[in-house]
Amino acid sequence: MVAVIAAGGSGARMNSARPKQFLEIGGKPVLLRALEKVAAIRNVRQVVIALPRAHVAEARAIVGKTRWRVPVLCVQGGPTRQESVRRAIGRAAAADLILVHDAVRPFCETSLMIEVLAAAWRYGAAVPAIPVTDTVQRVSKTGRVLATPPREELFSIQTPQCCRSGVLKAALERARTAGFAGTDESSVVRWAGHPVHIVPGAASNIKITLPMDFHIGELILSGADGRTASPQREAAVQRIGHGIDYHTLVEGRPLVLGGVRIPFEKGLQGHSDADALTHAVCDALLGGAALGDIGKHFPDSEPAHRNRPSLEFLREVRSKVEEAGWRIQNVDTTILAQRPRLSPFMEQMRANLAEAMQVPQLCVSVKATTTEGMNSEGRGEGISAQAVALLVRAEPA
Ligand code: MG
Repeated sequence: MVAVIAAGGSGARMNSARPKQFLEIGGKPVLLRALEKVAAIRNVRQVVIALPRAHVAEARAIVGKTRWRVPVLCVQGGPTRQESVRRAIGRAAAADLILVHDAVRPFCETSLMIEVLAAAWRYGAAVPAIPVTDTVQRVSKTGRVLATPPREELFSIQTPQCCRSGVLKAALERARTAGFAGTDESSVVRWAGHPVHIVPGAASNIKITLPMDFHIGELILSGADGRTASPQREAAVQRIGHGIDYHTLVEGRPLVLGGVRIPFEKGLQGHSDADALTHAVCDALLGGAALGDIGKHFPDSEPAHRNRPSLEFLREVRSKVEEAGWRIQNVDTTILAQRPRLSPFMEQMRANLAEAMQVPQLCVSVKATTTEGMNSEGRGEGISAQAVALLVRAEPA
């Protein structure tokens, strides 16, 4: 079997300069997510991705970052989806079955893909379909309802769509000669006279079309879309972590918080750069993953850590947390300091922390408060920071 991924979208409906297949959900391009699911099918021999010419290089860069079990080819598509698929098939290796998937359907489970494959093998052509729940009307150009097709006969058709190779190639060639334009492969194959069977599709197999779909996508990733509604599963997919750190203020040391060097007459005492904020974030991440604390991973007794920038610790902590199977969802922090005023530096702190954790800046919050002159922070003896982090179970690779 060979797979074709149709990635021809322009992003017109997303109000975005970049086509939606290149935008990220959960820190990963939509196209890459779709490719991962397709490449995970055991009997796929090759994947061909058809793209607008202007985006072939970008897709190659994304694909090239990962090593794939199967060869992945990025090729220039045509002016329509149908023509793009036809050209992609022309570049594909010979195969008994051809599976066509939308680049903007990143959440189709590999198990559904295999069901479609099995049905195509049996019937010649198969597609996933879900019953329509809205009433569907035929409407005139002037906006008058003309007819109400019986709803029990109506299904929304998803991808991947799979056909015996000879059936799909012949149908596409015939449609090209006759000038027939279908909105998907199943339309073209049926128009050409071949039966197409349906298998039950999945509600989570959404097509990313509108900006709202990115929010729905995040819900699907977090498992909150209902597929994983059991309390045990919920407990297993999300974890919270907390971190707290104190350092004393002394003369002759730089003041570094969130990787930003802040002009002040004193700085924080410590073995590393004593960045209390970054230390609290490290502890929150390690805590969420139950991996111990920063002292365990970067001991004071280690001379190599002397005066080290703490953002380097945070980068390592992110790797450790990811290796343990967790993805960082968001981090919220509070710095407790009587002086100096920190608000001018907070955006840079957020940017530094986000960069070190490789998450979008909107997932990182930095706040600060005085303690109204109370406590050690209020008396200017030191600065402390607290952080909470939410981790979600990473997708199996
Ligand atoms: Mg510390």
